[in-house]
Amino acid sequence: MKQMIKGLRSLSTLLTPKVNSEEWIQGSARGIRSLLPSGGGQCVTCLEPQARFGLCTPCRQDLPANHWHCRCCALPLAYAGNEVLCGQCLQDPPPFTRVIAPWRYRFPVDGMIQRYKYNGQRAFARPLIHDLAENLMSVLETAPEQRPDLLVASPMHPARRRKRGFNQAADIAEHISRRSGIPWSADLVIRSRRTRPQRGLNREERLANLRGIYRVTRPPPASIAIVDDVVTTGATARSLTEALLDAGAREVQIWALARTPG
Ligand SMILES: [Zn+2]
Ligand SMILES: [Zn+2]
Repeated sequence: MKQMIKGLRSLSTLLTPKVNSEEWIQGSARGIRSLLPSGGGQCVTCLEPQARFGLCTPCRQDLPANHWHCRCCALPLAYAGNEVLCGQCLQDPPPFTRVIAPWRYRFPVDGMIQRYKYNGQRAFARPLIHDLAENLMSVLETAPEQRPDLLVASPMHPARRRKRGFNQAADIAEHISRRSGIPWSADLVIRSRRTRPQRGLNREERLANLRGIYRVTRPPPASIAIVDDVVTTGATARSLTEALLDAGAREVQIWALARTPG
């Protein structure tokens, strides 16, 4: 495993950065690159040598797919049905049109995302990022009218990004952009101040914590997809969407790897 990550790191320095963000180029110097030339490699969860984009077939089939979910916020549901709205969306309809998140945030997806986010081990997220992009391509093929004009990476406060060395949302947005041809931006929306970490706060506290922190730096196009790693309570998605709608966007959707159960 260690060997493989080292291999990925050295390969990454050979790639030409084709990105539209100064910050991102600094991030890539630490070796976190979006697209790697090889589709093979060992399975990151069981170490099986025959893997596609870092997962063997049985491990890929075992990922917790978010089959039944709220049709707006993608909240996992315990019963069959995808045309239902959850209680939260009925009571307080979100400003975004929908969330696409193929997996539930639980084992092993939670661990794969955490290793990527907190330890910079991108190999663990590679299969998820790759499969998300493929999933989105088939969504857009059947519903081309839902293709957004721009992907917006969920912004991180610059101090936090410097500490982590990269913004995982920008990494995911860049990959989807390459696959789909939809342009992406890391600086259309910026975080104007630092907040308490959202973990451990309830929904009201999260919304209050985020109020007024996003600033849209220029007029946005009509249709936008915000890209993030995980959608938790949807508080970040709501605040970001409101900022974009206030600035003139007409429709905002959210694309993420995973959705938490609540
Ligand atoms: Zn496996
Ligand atoms: Zn919902």
